[in-house]
Amino acid sequence: MTTRRAVIAGGGIGGLATGLALAKTGWEVEVLEQAPELKEVGAGVQISPNGMHVLDALGVTPLIEETLFEPDAIELRMGRSGRRVFRLDMKNTAQVRWGNRFVQIHRADLHDALALALRAEPTARLQTHAKVTGYVRERGGASVYLERSERMFGDLVVGADGIRSEIRAQMSGADRARFTGNVAWRCVVPADALGEHAPPPRGVIWAGRGKHAVTTRVKGGTHVNFVGIVEQDSWQEEGWSIPGSVEEALRDFGDWHPSLRATLEAATGLFRWALFSRPPQATWSDGPVCVLGDAAHPMLPSMAQGAVQALEDAVVLADALSGGGDIAEALVDFELRRKPRVTQVQKRSLHNLRQFHRHTLPGQLATYAPMALVAGLAPGLAHKRQDWIYKYNPDNYPVFLT
Ligand SMILES: Cc1cc2nc3c(=O)[nH]c(=O)nc-3n(C[C@H](O)[C@H](O)[C@H](O)COP(=O)(O)OP(=O)(O)OC[C@H]3O[C@@H](n4cnc5c(N)ncnc54)[C@H](O)[C@@H]3O)c2cc1C
Repeated sequence: MTTRRAVIAGGGIGGLATGLALAKTGWEVEVLEQAPELKEVGAGVQISPNGMHVLDALGVTPLIEETLFEPDAIELRMGRSGRRVFRLDMKNTAQVRWGNRFVQIHRADLHDALALALRAEPTARLQTHAKVTGYVRERGGASVYLERSERMFGDLVVGADGIRSEIRAQMSGADRARFTGNVAWRCVVPADALGEHAPPPRGVIWAGRGKHAVTTRVKGGTHVNFVGIVEQDSWQEEGWSIPGSVEEALRDFGDWHPSLRATLEAATGLFRWALFSRPPQATWSDGPVCVLGDAAHPMLPSMAQGAVQALEDAVVLADALSGGGDIAEALVDFELRRKPRVTQVQKRSLHNLRQFHRHTLPGQLATYAPMALVAGLAPGLAHKRQDWIYKYNPDNYPVFLT
């Protein structure tokens, strides 16, 4: 059989992982990234065991070993008082119950490792400065149009170009992404700079009325990663690296726990961006063209699963295509295998956000008291509720083991 060729729009976590998964299963791959250089911005991401299964299968884990941090537990605390609602073991449970680690890592470190692994594949190429503006279906495949007046043909075209995907817009119509009414703050600060005020070295969700924050560790545990999400009526600016000032951030979190205040006060780079979503996508493919990751199913970050779901997409797509049969049929199979799961994750993420933002004291008590009870008296039950998400490791991943 002749080598089949995939053209992937977008060199984010989803696009790079897809390129890698396809290259490892015999495809020639071209990843096209619009940015002038491959430089991931942003903050930390948590990679749960279901994501680590993918990174293991793709051979990426050794490349991130130095920079990842493995928290012993996750906690829910009240944002102002710091009072702990519950603490759930992660380190031991993740290995024993879900078969892999639960880790925290800077997005740039994960992105660099994926790019390094992709570049090491002899059949893969990664181009920057390559903005895709659309596609056209052709005999035996499809071509993408590049902004620099070029066309590039693939037997398969993948839109991994994020929430404002050009490929998705052409496939399903150019509806605008909807502002969710939430704006995020982020910063990364050396833990040493915070002394006794450093937030605990684990995953901590700090809940409050109409807002919440999450603190994690990145860079092997040496740096505190802060993300704060605040409800806001409107949003005008574009982009996800809009600089903000410490004073502005303290307007949102200044009366919160001293650990959070200290983190914001020590921040030298504070950024804000708005959280957008769009209604579920009716279809993920058009003949030999498909979308995945945020291009197919954007979600709120309150379950820490957007990047992990993009990783899962990558390997399930490569598996669906590995039989060598009709590509359009394989893409329908891919969608059938992925959609129920990601739809559930999207809904759960929204549910979590609402729980973390309870606006009234009775609402907080009704939500957090049962959580505290279950985590305190029956932690096994609390862990069991996460089995469906963290245990996911389809039998077919061995297809990537070299
Ligand atoms: C505050 C916050 C915290 C988060 N925390 C977590 C977490 O802890 N764990 C987790 O799993 N997820 C987390 N996520 C979600 C995660 O960041 C996203 O779901 C993930 O980055 C999606 O990856 P992607 O590759 O699909 O899209 P993107 O990351 O958006 O990448 C798309 C890429 O395509 C490029 N591109 C766009 N248009 C074009 C074009 N026309 N042509 C060529 N290239 C193009 C872009 O430049 C970009 O490089 C978080 C998100 C937020 C906002």
